[in-house]
Amino acid sequence: GFKCGIVGLPNVGKSTLFNALTEAGIDAQNYPFCTIDPNVGIVPVPDPRLQQLASIVTPERVVPTTMEFVDIAGLVEGASKGEGLGNQFLGNIRETDAIAHVVRCFEDDDVVHVGGRVDPVADLDVIRTELQLADLEAIERAQDRAAKKARSGDKDATRAVALMDRLKEALDAPGGIRALELSDADAPLVRSLNLLTAKPTMYIANVDESGLENNPLLDRLREHVASEGAEVVPVCAAVESELAGLEPEERDEFLAELGQDEPGLNRVIRAGYDLLNLQTFFTAGPKEVRAWTVRRGASAPQAAGRIHTDFERGFIRAQVIAFDDYVEFGGEQGAKDAGRLRAEGKEYRVCEGDVILFRFNV
Ligand code: GDP
Repeated sequence: GFKCGIVGLPNVGKSTLFNALTEAGIDAQNYPFCTIDPNVGIVPVPDPRLQQLASIVTPERVVPTTMEFVDIAGLVEGASKGEGLGNQFLGNIRETDAIAHVVRCFEDDDVVHVGGRVDPVADLDVIRTELQLADLEAIERAQDRAAKKARSGDKDATRAVALMDRLKEALDAPGGIRALELSDADAPLVRSLNLLTAKPTMYIANVDESGLENNPLLDRLREHVASEGAEVVPVCAAVESELAGLEPEERDEFLAELGQDEPGLNRVIRAGYDLLNLQTFFTAGPKEVRAWTVRRGASAPQAAGRIHTDFERGFIRAQVIAFDDYVEFGGEQGAKDAGRLRAEGKEYRVCEGDVILFRFNV
C-alpha cells in the first residue's frame, strides 16, 4: 500500500488539512476498486512533467498518479492505555506505511488547545510518547512469547528475546528504532512487529497565514526534530482549505495575492510521496499520458504489474526512455533516432521519470 496516516492531537487542523487534500482531489467514482472510506483520501500527485509530456504527445487525456492519505482522528494523551478510542486509533496507524504528524503552530484564541496553550514541542512529545508506549507493549508481548519458546531450547527464540531488549532500549534513544542497525536475520522480525515509531515520519507544521516565515513556534519545532533528520513541512491548513474550494482561475488569483506559485498542499503531497519511498514512471501514447507509482528499486516487471497484473506475468521487455531524453528529443521517435531508447529486461530497476513502453505476452 501507499498510505500516509495523518495523526496529531485534537484541534491542530488535521481534518481541515485532510479535507483540503481530498477536495482538491479525485472523484472516488473513478476508483471503483477502492473501498469508500470517508477517512481515506485518494490524492493526485502534482507533477509538472505530465504537462511537458502532454505537450509533446497531445494525448486524449492526462492522468496523474495518486497516493492515499488517511485521517486518523482522536489520538489523545493516554491513548495507549485505551483513553478515548485509543487502541482503535493506534491500530489504524499500524495499517499505514508512513506518518504525517500535524503539529499546531498557529495562535487563535477561538480554537481551544487541548493542552491549554500552543506549544508544538510539547504536543509532539505527547503523541510520540503514546506511540512509544504502544510500541513498548507490542515489544513486551513479543518478548514474552519468545521467552516461552526459548525455555524449550529454541535458538531463534533466544535471539528474539535479546533483540527485544535492544528494541526497548532504542525506543527512548535519539533516532529511535529507525536508527538501529539490524542484521539480515533480525530485520524481518522487527518488520513483523509493525512498530509505530519505526514508520517513516514527517511533521506538518500548521501555521498562520502569515506564519510561514519568522515564526518562533516553527523554529522551535524544527530545532526539536533536527536530530531525527525528519522533514518539517509548514502549511496553513485554513488557507489550503479555502484554496481547494476555488475554481482554477480564482485559485490562481488568490495564490498570486499570497505570493505563491502553487498550493502548499503540493509540498505536503510530494513530501508524503518521498516519505513512502515512491517513485514515478510514465506511459505516453495518443490515448493517454499517465504517471504511475512504484517503490524505489522496483523491477521492470513489477512496474508493468502496476498497470495490469497480466503485464507482469507476460512481461517480455521494456522500452525505456529517460524523461530528460524524451523531452530533449521531442518524443519517442526522436529519442529512438538519437539512440536513447533502451530495451530493458526482467532485471532492470526502474528509474525516476522513466518513460516506458512494455512488451508482453497475453
Ligand atoms: P483536528 O481536530 O486536528 O482535525 O482539527 P480541525 O481541522 O477540526 O481544526 C480545529 C479548528 O482549528 C477548526 O475550528 C479549524 O477551523 C481551525 N483551524 C484549522 N487550521 C487552522 C489554521 O491554519 N489557522 C487557524 N486560525 N485556524 C485553523
